[in-house]
Amino acid sequence: MDFTNKTAVITGGANGIGLCIAREFRKHGAKTAVIDTDPKGCDCDLFFLGDIADEDALTAFTAEVAAKFGTVDCLINNACVSRRGILSGCGYDDFLYVQKVGVAAPYMLTKLLLPYFARGASVVNIASSRAFQSQSDTESYSAAKGGIVALTHALAVSLAGRVRVNSISPGWIDTTGGGFSAADHAQHPAGRVGKPIDIAKAVLYLCSEDAGFITGENLTVDGGMNKLMVYHGDHGWSYGEKA
Ligand code: NAD
Repeated sequence: MDFTNKTAVITGGANGIGLCIAREFRKHGAKTAVIDTDPKGCDCDLFFLGDIADEDALTAFTAEVAAKFGTVDCLINNACVSRRGILSGCGYDDFLYVQKVGVAAPYMLTKLLLPYFARGASVVNIASSRAFQSQSDTESYSAAKGGIVALTHALAVSLAGRVRVNSISPGWIDTTGGGFSAADHAQHPAGRVGKPIDIAKAVLYLCSEDAGFITGENLTVDGGMNKLMVYHGDHGWSYGEKA
């Protein structure tokens, strides 16, 4: 995949999956612009220190991107946070903040960049397998992830013929560099916990011309975990009643 002369905008590109996506775009020839709250930044052509929950920051970032690059080929809405859920006191403001970062900012950044998207442009939203299945006490995050999956197909229809819009739902991705048990890996049908590069490769594919017939779609990249049926006593799984 060749992204020479293309520009990729990535939110949350200073760490974890976003950092890997930004590096992978650069490796394949793209110019990259990153917005992140982490002042350490990253190797990119334009770094903007800011919180994507803040509309003014999104507007200022867009202005810098437009001035420096003129057009944008790929927008990767990657940054998200969790403020837990209903069992641990996640209040209204906490819940709304996560929706701002996880859904409203991806919408707003797409809207602000609309005049600058080049022909054949592509948006990839990073959702999560938690859009479709949950652990307890995860409402703020799960709601944001469900929201971004729906935002994806809505934008794909609205922007038909102009911009393709897809989402990726990662499963368990190791952004900390290991420390997992054999069982952590083995429980995945693919035999291992995921790596940021598993997501970055899927992002670049969805942004490439090879994916020109794919829009409005969600691609789950979770090593098969969401396909694993869990029954008590099956494959060593056992059901434990909650205390
Ligand atoms: P991470 O916490 O390692 O990195 C997130 C980056 O986003 C950080 O650099 C952080 O500073 C930045 N960020 C956070 N809030 C921001 C804000 N308001 N404005 C600007 N920047 C902000 O996270 P990650 O694990 O790399 O996750 C990246 C994406 O993948 C997220 O959308 C996450 O929900 C999703 N995801 C991750 C996993 C996983 O197992 N790691 C699984 C499913 C989905």
